Amino acid sequence: MTVRVRFAPSPTGFMHLGNARTALFNWLFARHHGGEFILRIEDTDRERHTEAAVQVIYDSLKWMGLNWDGPVLRQSERLAIYHEVAEKLIAEGKAYRCNCTREELEAKKEAMKDTVNRSCYDRTCRDKNLGPDCGTHVVRFKMPLEGESSFDDMIQGKITKSYKDLDDFIMIRSDGMPTYQFAVVVDDLALQITHVIRGSDHIDNTHDQIALYHALGKEPPRFGHAPRILGLSKRKGSPSVEYYREALGLLPEGLNNYIARLGWSHGNDEIFTMDELVKAFDICDVNQANGQFDEEKLIWVNEQQLHIVPIEKLASYVIPLFEKAGIHVEAGEWLNKLLEMMRMRAHNLNEIVSGSRFVFVAPETYDEASVAKHFNADTPELLNALADELEKLDNWDPAAIEAMMKAFAEARTLKMGKVAQPARTAIVGIAQSPSIGDTIWFVGQKEACARLRKAAEYAKSLG
Ligand code: GLU
Repeated sequence: MTVRVRFAPSPTGFMHLGNARTALFNWLFARHHGGEFILRIEDTDRERHTEAAVQVIYDSLKWMGLNWDGPVLRQSERLAIYHEVAEKLIAEGKAYRCNCTREELEAKKEAMKDTVNRSCYDRTCRDKNLGPDCGTHVVRFKMPLEGESSFDDMIQGKITKSYKDLDDFIMIRSDGMPTYQFAVVVDDLALQITHVIRGSDHIDNTHDQIALYHALGKEPPRFGHAPRILGLSKRKGSPSVEYYREALGLLPEGLNNYIARLGWSHGNDEIFTMDELVKAFDICDVNQANGQFDEEKLIWVNEQQLHIVPIEKLASYVIPLFEKAGIHVEAGEWLNKLLEMMRMRAHNLNEIVSGSRFVFVAPETYDEASVAKHFNADTPELLNALADELEKLDNWDPAAIEAMMKAFAEARTLKMGKVAQPARTAIVGIAQSPSIGDTIWFVGQKEACARLRKAAEYAKSLG
């Protein structure tokens, strides 16, 4: 049997982290078993969905690296099929038209509220055999009246509910649109889905859906309901992939690693590459208990991924961020070198970009504290003399730059820091940067000399 799973988001305009994790679990499950991962857009709620919201789904999945197989299924394009299946069930006496008005339903609900502890339809139309000419109507499923519904959840274990507690749920609304409950089964059958992995908020729906599979004479797929992620709604900012990606400068590997571990474990291992996740992921190891969102941990996991991700990938993540910051960089050896240096100093992608800015842009101002600490009356002469030496250097190489500066400091009986820190302040604008040899090398010979001389002028103006 080929494993076929699906991710079936509704286009809400953002990718909630809980949904992202559902997508990831499905993708990992499919890839682990050499199966297929299908994307289905549940866009029958005409009022709410926009094409921009659909695009958000594509963009988030692409960014996360969760490639899907085959064409995307759009529910809005399958309305005729839902009607066909509904008609078949009506003809077989397994579904029925109901023309109770909204007011009647409200009144019934009100009348029942003291005797029945949940709101359900009183089945007035169940045996009326209403035809299509019965006026405004919905189509309801004829739920069995006796016995119980039971399934063996891959995560939660056996779950049972009495049919008595299940409603004759609506399959087709009065506007002709299918409900989620109905379309999901028709589509999962059409797609030959073998395993449904989704959030535990759908556990109750599963009983309705299984009853529908039985009515259609089909075997239901296996179900696995992942626990919820707690603590997201209380945070500021939207609990979405897009928000966390930008606010925390996340790598897809960082987010994926973190959300995979939120509710799933593999011994005490914390850090996984995507390949390792695919290899290790087993749906049976997903916890039953809800997970607690922990932003600090997300930041930490992301930092670990920043250190190990292949450098070309890292380059592909930062190039657009550099562009956004108005800095044009090209992929290649030079950028890879810069990133190798920066990634061990930065905690996230945003910090790589801000920390590398000095390489591309000369400082416009100098950090006050750095100036107070490292500039003095000797600084103009020192910086100009250093620029003279740098200009003469034939071998433009970080080690050679560093060696030259050491010799320069020794000749003046100064400690290296007494030369390197004013030089850093001059070149970066602040006395913090990678090693001085690298810092100057990346800025380039001509530009570094120009910045030293400009800072010498500035130091002179301080008097
Ligand atoms: N559109 C539903 C959701 O986003 C899909 C649920 C399911 O996977 O069946 O919750």
